[in-house]
Amino acid sequence: MKPAGLPRVAVSSHGAARLRAGEPWVWRSDVTPPRAAGAETDADLVAVVDPRGKPLGTAFFAPDSPIPLRVWGPGVTPYTDEELRRRLRDAHDRRRATAAAAAAYRVAHAEADGLPGLIVDRYADALVVQTLCAAMDRREAAVVAALRDLFAPRLVVLRNDGAARDFEGLPRRKGVVHGAGPTRVTYAEGEVRFTVDLLEDAKTGGFLDQRENHLRTRRYAHGTGLDAFTYHGGFALHLARGCEHVLALDESAPAIERARANAADNGLTHVECRVANAFDALRELEGQGTRYDVVVLDPPALAKRRGPLTAAERGYRELNLRGLRLLRPGGVLVTCSCSAQMTPTRFEGVLVEAAGLAGRPVQVLERRGAAADHPVLLGVPATEYLKCWILRAL
Ligand code: SAH
Repeated sequence: MKPAGLPRVAVSSHGAARLRAGEPWVWRSDVTPPRAAGAETDADLVAVVDPRGKPLGTAFFAPDSPIPLRVWGPGVTPYTDEELRRRLRDAHDRRRATAAAAAAYRVAHAEADGLPGLIVDRYADALVVQTLCAAMDRREAAVVAALRDLFAPRLVVLRNDGAARDFEGLPRRKGVVHGAGPTRVTYAEGEVRFTVDLLEDAKTGGFLDQRENHLRTRRYAHGTGLDAFTYHGGFALHLARGCEHVLALDESAPAIERARANAADNGLTHVECRVANAFDALRELEGQGTRYDVVVLDPPALAKRRGPLTAAERGYRELNLRGLRLLRPGGVLVTCSCSAQMTPTRFEGVLVEAAGLAGRPVQVLERRGAAADHPVLLGVPATEYLKCWILRAL
């Protein structure tokens, strides 16, 4: 099919191969020449062609972005607001299987749902939207209109204030774009209730990608527990359902305040929430001879986009070594990494090293990822950013 009507942008043979393998975007180094179509048109929808001029599909185009092309569809796929709405509805329909019983979950996971640069999270009766590329930014009004039609939410909050915006050269901004009333929302996650402020808290409010891992960790809860990077008590409160005592740490005072309030709201008086640097605190606890039956490590991304990995690997190794040393015999380590750079293979390598240094045989109980409402695209390793390994140290 000839991509008539749309300006053409050519990609390198490497870029073409990646697109054919299912990657939904093209990096600037693979666009040839990088700004060709930008000079010709201000249209943001283009026909992508390989070095021989063969069509590869239709994509959003942002000439100055590090990711100038984001696939919108095969062949010639015109953009219409109706198509956007249909994709949002389909994405949500798929959540009937992947987030069936959840009150807070991801409705749309960007490229993995065919919605380039668009993230929509639901927290009870409120929706939070992030548009992470220029083309979706321009369609913000259409996104909000579609969400109002499809879900009749009480509130739609825009959270375009994350670092991903800087990466795209887009301005940071946030605000309520539809509805009224408090931006503070309470929702149930399994047996636990969480309260988040959708306008003020991190990301879109919570770490929804950890939902299934929180619920799963409940199974291993016994004795005493430690949640070293707790944020609002994500793992700690689920652990507390089965542990006699849980220590929850975070270096952020507002996060710990919220974790404390969440624990109180759930009547979980045996959760101790403390502002602390986890790296220091783990060392101190080890020195004091304190030991735990379950330790959860969910640090922020220690490896950043495209930086050298060695420092990050050392960080993960030290953290996991300390976590293992704090475990009683037979204790369970729930250990996570949310760096896409840190592939599952590398992460496992770091864990093998940590176990070797700890001198303990370690069983792999589960190798988990993000919740199923944050799907990974097959053949696109960058979308498999979250790892959550559940180990038992003998
Ligand atoms: N486990 C949480 C999410 C954790 S996000 C959940 O499942 O909901 C990572 C958290 O680590 C953030 O709250 C951040 O404030 C905290 N953090 C970052 N560096 C830290 C450090 N050195 N020590 C303790 N907490 C840290």
